[in-house]
Amino acid sequence: MSPDSPNRILVVDDEERIRTAVRRVLESMGMEVFDAANGREGLEAIAAHRPDLVLVDLMMPVMDGMEMIGQARRQHATLAFVVITGYATLEKAVEAMKQGADDFLAKPFKPQELRLVIERVLKRVATLQDMAIERSRTRVLIEAMSNGVLVVDDQARIVLMNSALAKLAKYSGEAYGLDLSEVIDCVDVAEAMGQVLSGKAADGQVIQCTMKGDTPGEPVHLQVRCGPFRDIRGNTVGALAVFDDITPIQRLDELKSEYVSTVAHEIASPLSSVLSQLQNLAQGLAGGLNERQAHIVERARGRIQGIINLSKDLLDLSKIEAGVMGDPDEQLDLAAILEESVDIIRPAAEQKDQTLTVNISGGLPHIKAVAREIQEVFVNLLSNAVRYSPSGGAIELSAIADDNEAVVRVKDNGFGIPADEQDKIFERFYRIKDANTREIVGTGLGLPIVKRVVEASGGRLELNSRPGKGSTFTVRLPGSN
Ligand code: ADP
Repeated sequence: MSPDSPNRILVVDDEERIRTAVRRVLESMGMEVFDAANGREGLEAIAAHRPDLVLVDLMMPVMDGMEMIGQARRQHATLAFVVITGYATLEKAVEAMKQGADDFLAKPFKPQELRLVIERVLKRVATLQDMAIERSRTRVLIEAMSNGVLVVDDQARIVLMNSALAKLAKYSGEAYGLDLSEVIDCVDVAEAMGQVLSGKAADGQVIQCTMKGDTPGEPVHLQVRCGPFRDIRGNTVGALAVFDDITPIQRLDELKSEYVSTVAHEIASPLSSVLSQLQNLAQGLAGGLNERQAHIVERARGRIQGIINLSKDLLDLSKIEAGVMGDPDEQLDLAAILEESVDIIRPAAEQKDQTLTVNISGGLPHIKAVAREIQEVFVNLLSNAVRYSPSGGAIELSAIADDNEAVVRVKDNGFGIPADEQDKIFERFYRIKDANTREIVGTGLGLPIVKRVVEASGGRLELNSRPGKGSTFTVRLPGSN
């Protein structure tokens, strides 16, 4: 029903006198009126004219009003019915209401009573029709989206799944009413939706997962955004998930990593040999150098070392991203690794007259991780603490056990990191360039490596820092038992 078109009313009554009288009243209200003399004709008129409301007498020959309502309801769920009845059949009117009639009029009725009932029911019809239009609009919109969309009820049963998702999930049957896990072959999605439904997840949480599907072909990498929807009391009554296919981006990222690691690998060995030649020169193995020559060789050596470090970091990062760093040790002795990391960094701290305090409490949980990776984490953090603190600074490494978690802090009283850069320093190649750090050589890859290793080991990395005061990096690693 468009807002401008008149309402269509069908009057079904075997008494022509009533049909004419009702028609007159309704037409004076600006409505379009059709009529029929019995239930059967009424059904035909409903099919032909698609009225908004049917005014129907109960007692009629051929097919009575009750039977007509019953049959029409099955095909036209939103059609409204007003029953006309004589005094003697009030009970029947009540029964008709139970069968789905919306209201009734007792004969004889006045034009004003007819108007009131019709207006009241049409108001409800308009609301229902608005809701039906809204629903259909939403359905078309969801169907037209290139993202996959999934709606589940509070029991994680599928209420709606658009065709984009059916294609992603390689699912061709009817999904309505099925359990989410029967259609989406991805435990992470089921888990995330479960958390949303139980109110444990933040609204709009985003997860990444891989969906394999039953059919052969490349696995599909997905980014999924989930959120709850609630009733007017705020109770969660279901959850919605929007799926983004990030397979092409992932593939591109893999190609880029492969490319970077090939280049890094290829340049590392010739550069190492250049470095050793320069070392030979510096040591005078090719004849003594004067001061100026020695200075030039030293500078060249420093630059070559910088590129070797960069290629090593690039290789490490691409290996970590590709998940090929090696098999994790199930019972890694964290305290031993921390001691070794401190030993590696101590000479650099001493060179800058910095104090390096170590407090490792006993009883740290064993962790499950790759030893070399974990050592790289703490060597990187300690090396940063040394490099980004002035001479004479104080650096502290502490480790405690907290609820089957090992909590390691690397604290310095150095330059600190401005708040708006605290996220960016974990991005590849990001380096802060200010008066304090301009001269410090680095690759901008240390912290991205640290973050990825910590997260791949199931841990978390936190940063607390204030410019001019210092920084504390906290690493939390779950115990393996
Ligand atoms: P690199 O040290 O090679 O530049 P990182 O990824 O390890 O790369 O660090 C990125 C940037 O973060 C550094 O350039 C530095 O500006 C800042 N940073 C890292 N650790 C600290 C720290 N402990 N104190 C102050 N700034 C730091």
